[in-house]
Amino acid sequence: MSGDILLDATDELRKEIKRRGGAYGDLKDPLGDGNFFFAPMGEHLLSCLEFASKKICPGHNIKLRWMKDNRLNAFAYTAPDTPDSFIGINIGALYTLHDLFMRMMCDGDFLPTIGNSALETVESAGIRFLTTNLPSELEKFPAVLPKCEIRACYASYAFSVCMDFLLFHEVTHIANGHSRVIHELSGDRHISENATPIQSEKHFLRQSLEKDADCGAIGWVFERMEFAAAHLKPVLKRIKDSPVSNPKFKNPKLLAMKNALESPAEMVKLASFVTYAFFRIFNWRDWDVFDRFKLSHPEPPIRQAILFSNIASRALRARENGVAISDDDIFQMQAVEECVARLLKLKVDPSGIVSVYKNSLYLEHLKKLDAAWSEIRPRLEALKLHDRPLEV
Ligand SMILES: [Zn+2]
Repeated sequence: MSGDILLDATDELRKEIKRRGGAYGDLKDPLGDGNFFFAPMGEHLLSCLEFASKKICPGHNIKLRWMKDNRLNAFAYTAPDTPDSFIGINIGALYTLHDLFMRMMCDGDFLPTIGNSALETVESAGIRFLTTNLPSELEKFPAVLPKCEIRACYASYAFSVCMDFLLFHEVTHIANGHSRVIHELSGDRHISENATPIQSEKHFLRQSLEKDADCGAIGWVFERMEFAAAHLKPVLKRIKDSPVSNPKFKNPKLLAMKNALESPAEMVKLASFVTYAFFRIFNWRDWDVFDRFKLSHPEPPIRQAILFSNIASRALRARENGVAISDDDIFQMQAVEECVARLLKLKVDPSGIVSVYKNSLYLEHLKKLDAAWSEIRPRLEALKLHDRPLEV
């Protein structure tokens, strides 16, 4: 595993964000896992990679680097003869996603029960596509922070969960044998996260690998949240048992983590909010209704719908086992959609998952993806490097 993913661009970014008041850099992280700050995101992702190399791709050596090439969002590469894999993520994801979640929590109408939402004023839209030209972008779109510290910390944790999703998506490409399938299909050894036209008849197969990577990633994201929740529990209990004067009662990070992780219902809310918002901001181009089937990646609304269905099934299974999760916890996309639409000054749900479920072409697309995934599933089961069953 590489211990060197913090390129100078990260320092540059860190300095700029801090200079503009965009990070609570001088507060200590109560859990010590680096989830809260922009600056240690590299270290946090390295700890995720360590988890990946133990649990998801045992024996594999995964390296991670930030990329400054605007033509690529991210990619995964697996070497043919050695257990070496390589993941690249566009450095712009750090700024764009940090900015997205901070701005969303600046909107007091969004998740109003977290912290003191009455303090917030809606910030103007600053969400940009992935950018590698950080100083110039930051000049145009200065960093913003929610005024309530609890909301700022919640936004930071949402950012961290989103980065986990991104990383585990790439890890799943490596862990579930996708590289091998892609190599057989096209001769390529890398999987690139840019929707490109696929000439062969195999575009649904190619898209079903993206579906597999999204569903695999969300499974690992939940596992990491449950792990963090297990560590949080005794900390919260200790605080509860100690005198009320204990200053930790007011610790914004602990209170934000409590909001994010104190019950399975909160984790479901967080995971669905993060993944929905992530794909929503990348749904910026006009998709060609006839060509969408021929691309390497399903359109963002389709991916939102797939993830929503995965998270909802997970929640319903938990509910059958007696875990308290309400319909409101599961079906809260409208609130996320309204918040992102306010920020981006868009009409509510021009092409989000509500549209997917009302559109026969989209529904047909979902069905074909399901069929392609079922067809490739036995091959992926044989190739995958971990014990967890594949899920959709
Ligand atoms: Zn992918």
